[in-house]
Order: sequence, then C-alpha cells, then structure tokens
Amino acid sequence: MNTPTLGSFPVRRPRRLRQSAALRRLVCETELRVSQLVLPLFVRSGRKLRRPIGAMPGVFQLSPDELVRDATAAAQAGVPAVLLFGIPDRKDAKASGAYTRNGIVQQAVRLLKKELPELLVITDVCLCEYMAHGHCGLVQAGRRGAKILNDPTLKLLARAAASHAEAGADLVAPSDMMDGRVAAIRAELDRQSFVDTPIMSYAAKYASAFYGPFREAAESAPKFGDRRSYQMDAANASEALREVALDIEEGADIVMVKPALAYLDIIHRVKTTFGLPTAAYAVSGEHSMIKAAAAQGWIDERAVTLEALLGMRRAGADILITYAAVDVARWLKGG
Ligand SMILES: [Zn+2]
Repeated sequence: MNTPTLGSFPVRRPRRLRQSAALRRLVCETELRVSQLVLPLFVRSGRKLRRPIGAMPGVFQLSPDELVRDATAAAQAGVPAVLLFGIPDRKDAKASGAYTRNGIVQQAVRLLKKELPELLVITDVCLCEYMAHGHCGLVQAGRRGAKILNDPTLKLLARAAASHAEAGADLVAPSDMMDGRVAAIRAELDRQSFVDTPIMSYAAKYASAFYGPFREAAESAPKFGDRRSYQMDAANASEALREVALDIEEGADIVMVKPALAYLDIIHRVKTTFGLPTAAYAVSGEHSMIKAAAAQGWIDERAVTLEALLGMRRAGADILITYAAVDVARWLKGG
C-alpha cells in the first residue's frame, strides 16, 4: 500500500496522535492476542521428569505427566494450542518411533486430548528425532557421500501424520521439507478418513543457524552433513514463494515461515501473495538470544519479546509459535 502525501508540516504533526496512551491505543494498527499463540513442547518417556535444556532457559523435556502439567498451565493462561515434539527411547534407520501406534507423541496426544479436550494439539511431523543419523529423511550411503532420499521418505511421513491424527491430533505440521510431502500426507489422511484434519506445513523452512539450541532439545542434530539439501538457502525469497505455492496446491491449510525474526520479509510476501493463515515460528535461537541478554540485564525481556512478536504480526503472521507463549499470555492479560 502506498501512503499518499497528505500535506506537510506545520499542518501535519504526526506527534499529535502520540500524546497519550489512550490516543496511541486508538490509532494502534496491530494487535497481539493470546489466541494467536502456540507453545512448542517436548515430550519423552518417564515419570516426573523435567529435564532442563541448557541452551533454552525455561524449556524442558517433559515426561507425559509433566507435559500435562505444562499444557494445563498454558491452557489456563489462555494459550489455545501446543505443538508437540517427541524424543523416543530408541532411534533407528527407518524412524520407526515416528509412526508406531504407541510412539511417544501418539501417547502424549491421547493423554492431552483426554485431560484437556479444548486445547488444540498440533504435532510436528518429521523423522529426524527418530532417525539414528538425525536426518529428516531416509539416507542412502553412496560413494560420493550420503544422500537424503525424497520419495521413499514420503510414505513414512504420511504414516507418521496419520498415526498422529488417529491418536487425536487436531492438526499435523510436517517440518521435513521433502518435496511432495504435503500431498502424500493429505492423501494418506484422506485414505484413512481423516479428511477434517488440517495440515499446517512448514512451507518455507530455512537451513538456519538459529536452530542450534533446538537440536539439544529434540536430540535431533544430524550425525553427518547438514540439512542444506532439503531446507532452504537463507539468501532466497522467490524460492520461498514457490515452496509455499506448491504446499498450498498440495493441500496445506496453514503455511509457516521458519525462523521468524530474520525472515520478516518472507512472512510479509507469503501473507500478501497467498492470503492463507500464516504462521511464524520464533525459533530456539531467537528465544535463547533474548533470554541470554535479559539474564545479563542488557535488555528488558518482556518488552523485547513482545516487540519481536509484534514485528511478526506486523509482517503478516496470524499465528505465533513461541517458547515464550505462556509468559506472553500472562503479560498480555496484565499479569
Ligand atoms: Zn526433521
């Protein structure tokens, strides 16, 4: 939108509308609301387990009972949704834990839907946490190094998504960045009669150094190589629009941009181009940077967190996935 020229000083004095809090509220353009927040949670087997994640202050790997506790606190604060990541007891070369009926995520979904039926449970659909090698797809060793196989991976992702839906997940969120995964997942969900389960696709997911702390949280760091053959190059924006267009064509109901803060232009272009519900994932590194600087007393944690999320909203994000969701919910309610 072009801003028309409406005259100039001294007739125009923009400060007139900034004189009081009430005036500023009256002309406020962008709103942060509790209903926009999604809290990521990490679940692993055990009881009464809260394993702190060193690089992510305030974030834990939780056993299912503790998961219910944190999810309850989130729901009570008004957070409408959680995004679940699982850490299995065993990993293998075909990510069996990702799609077994009694996998850790499937168990956690059943438990959460039983204890907190109103809370939306979104499941991350990927294979990396369940693969011994830590990649998001099946790997084929070759003379010129390992290759991440695209098409054979799709079947496993589709099975994982369907097993989450079967457990009661409200939405499934594929994060692997294999080509064609949204179509494969949609087809399998429909085949198993989960026609009403929406897909929130990590449509433009970049190979980002901001994920560093998360890999400790999800224990999903690749044992060799990196993820640049499937996640996007940070330099590319037009490619992100093509990725998003493909996911929408394949059946994505909500599209996500990840990370958020360094990719606000992508969020903006995705929202203005496609108009679909758009999510922004404020990733572990973004969270940890704020936490670390705040712990030093260098920044105001609350003000910086809210300002960063407001920036994502202004860029066009409708849904904000953030590790600070519960704090933010309390702050917004004036707590
Ligand atoms: Zn992955």
